[in-house]
Amino acid sequence: MKNIYEIAEKLYELDQQYNRLSWSQYTTGYDFGTSEAYNKILGELSSKENFEIVEKEYNESSTDLAEKRKAEIMYNWFQPYHLSKEANELSIQIQKLTTQLSQILNTHRSKIDGVEISSVDIGQILSADDDREKRKKAYFARAQVNKPLVDGGFCELVKLRKEYADKRGFHDFVEMRLKDDGLSPDIFNGWKKQVHKALPAMKDARQKAAEKYINDSRIMPWDESYISSKIAPSLNTKVDMLSYYSIIKNIFMKFGIDISKFNITYDVFSRANKSEWGYNFQISTGKDTRILANVKNLYKEYNVLMHETGHAVHSYLLDPKEIILNYGVSGIISEGIANLFGGLIYEEIFYKDFFGQKDCVKNEFAEIKKYSKINALRAIDTILFDQELYRNEINSLQDINELAFKNQKEVLNEEPFGDEYPWGYRIHHTECPIYLHNYFMGDVTCEMLKKVFCHSNSCITIMDKPIEFSKFLMDNVINSSGLYKYPELFKKISGEDFSLKYIL
Ligand SMILES: [Zn+2]
Repeated sequence: MKNIYEIAEKLYELDQQYNRLSWSQYTTGYDFGTSEAYNKILGELSSKENFEIVEKEYNESSTDLAEKRKAEIMYNWFQPYHLSKEANELSIQIQKLTTQLSQILNTHRSKIDGVEISSVDIGQILSADDDREKRKKAYFARAQVNKPLVDGGFCELVKLRKEYADKRGFHDFVEMRLKDDGLSPDIFNGWKKQVHKALPAMKDARQKAAEKYINDSRIMPWDESYISSKIAPSLNTKVDMLSYYSIIKNIFMKFGIDISKFNITYDVFSRANKSEWGYNFQISTGKDTRILANVKNLYKEYNVLMHETGHAVHSYLLDPKEIILNYGVSGIISEGIANLFGGLIYEEIFYKDFFGQKDCVKNEFAEIKKYSKINALRAIDTILFDQELYRNEINSLQDINELAFKNQKEVLNEEPFGDEYPWGYRIHHTECPIYLHNYFMGDVTCEMLKKVFCHSNSCITIMDKPIEFSKFLMDNVINSSGLYKYPELFKKISGEDFSLKYIL
């Protein structure tokens, strides 16, 4: 008779195959059979024989913490595929439609005045172009993928997901996704109120920045990145991106991590039919991890390279033998670690190799960190919009745009900035719904980790003791990240429940 380890190994093998095919799809635009690969995974997950073994292990409830957690991870994974035939059929349909819409996203290119433009170039206009009208055009160019997505079946996809959650017996799709990740929907209670409380100070800081840099009283969405670059102009410094690998390697070495020992594949420059986003495909833990990004030549673009390398390093630091526990790592922890490394571009430890130790650069980055902190809660707007899609009836592009503006008004108290809201280019709504909170909560987690570390190591910043911080991360987070559900892990390290106080 099989045991749960054999089942997990088989699934892991199929998963690796699926991930390799996804990598091909995202880097070339060719689909060599992701749906077939997914169906094989589904075959294992819906096998009665497998489920009996998993269920038995789960019900026996081992007294060993790790064994108990492994049985729980496997049970939570298998259980949804043993509810009804309809639910499984829905799951196949959802996967198929998601893949089709991903193809649309990956191969779509926006146009400005009839000329194709890459997402990197849109980003550069938004960040560096002094012409406000041009920035506005670039911003709305991002909205062009909305219609093809809706025409391709985005509203249908949302409906299928709602139906699936219903078939699984959940109140709604948001609750289902959160519970699958070991989170309670209550975790978002009071977030809107927190934003409202922060709004006066945020508004004040933004108005001052608007008056100073764009001679206006309101920052529009197409001014956001531009203002950041005005506060910290070094972000837009042209750099030679060809040497990205040695730069990233050097910075990780300062944390005692030698990435040249890891097999990390980088595909970092834009081209036709390649996804315009940033991803880390963790094909095989400790063996094969691949980074997709789109960068060109600006210092600030190191943020995405460092973020994705953070994911890659995380996957290399996990124990490859712990197949089941590795499936239990929370998205919050993985995005938190990735953001921690992404954020290093604002730290002297990283920028001194580019700019030396000039005071002006130091002041710029101190200023941008301060400004970003005041604006940090703005992320809640898109996090809640992602959820609202599943709590409202949407049947058309217009419904989605109206919902986005309504949500923006409720969360940030800001009026609509146009007829269309660029939501579709943000791949999460299509590919991984109810995920955006992971970045934000990951940041909160990192602030907590930094505080706990500095307190117990008597230092002011983790940059004072990077090697020790790496060890702290390994011992407290990475080694145990699959063993505990996120809320438990947070409490275990900080001694208290998750709260936004760490970033306020
Ligand atoms: Zn990430």
